[in-house]
Amino acid sequence: MRESKQMPRMPRMSNMITLSHSKISTWKSCRRQYKFIYDDKISPIDEPTYFALGRSIHDSLSKFYAIEPEMRTQQDLVNWFAKSLADDWSRLTSRREAYPDDERDYKSTVENGYTMLTRYWNRYGIDKQIGKCLTEHQVSVQLTDNLSFTGKLDCLTSNWIIEHKTGNITVEDLALEDDQSFMYCWLMRKVGRPVKGTVYNIIPSPTAQSSSFQRVPIERTDNELASVESEILQIAEEIEWLPRLPTRSYSCKSCQFRMLCRAERQGGDVEYLIDSKFRRANETA
Ligand code: SF4
Repeated sequence: MRESKQMPRMPRMSNMITLSHSKISTWKSCRRQYKFIYDDKISPIDEPTYFALGRSIHDSLSKFYAIEPEMRTQQDLVNWFAKSLADDWSRLTSRREAYPDDERDYKSTVENGYTMLTRYWNRYGIDKQIGKCLTEHQVSVQLTDNLSFTGKLDCLTSNWIIEHKTGNITVEDLALEDDQSFMYCWLMRKVGRPVKGTVYNIIPSPTAQSSSFQRVPIERTDNELASVESEILQIAEEIEWLPRLPTRSYSCKSCQFRMLCRAERQGGDVEYLIDSKFRRANETA
């Protein structure tokens, strides 16, 4: 029988699995990386600090939009950022020895964050355009007896998902290729909340050349979302059955597990590397 979008084929699975956009994205890019992160549950002790800025901006905005506009202040926005960054930085750097550039990097991250949020406040103020929202909103749906899908939304209004995007963003890429938006819109409609689509709230970094403050609403049609569920089901089946083969490519350069892959290939002591350079999920920081 031919597969149809209306009747996705149920995966043959024996284990319980919860999928998310980031799991699926990792699986699609490299199955070996998926194994390290989700099967072995290891993470590098020396985690890069360059994502801390975006995480702390997100955290600050999630608190900002969780309250009524009249309650919002610039001082709170900046304070939330500062607290979040300090905590995150401490988590990242306390696992490893200190580097000479740590202090300089921290200061420049704080300055960049202050600049971004000050410009944000100057642009939107208390921002009545976005009222009090559900922020960092976790939504899950059960797809089969042993498969569920979950997503955490930056911000949810009555009929739009709002995604904060920091950095150097190209709107066209987001509109056409942002898998997360397709999955989250499908997820919300699946649980009976008919969102129109995603509003990209773009917050350029101070150094971004080709990005500016923008709010870009992208509607997602049912037709666009019709294949999301069957794709999730197929990937769940792949994860259940397929070996964790490495996808060696140019992107290995920026992979945090590169030393393990290289050691595996060259007959190195992988267990020693894991014990000395990585943490297992049940180990405390
Ligand atoms: S180094 Fe390359 S092959 Fe190895 S896990 Fe990372 S992306 Fe995959």
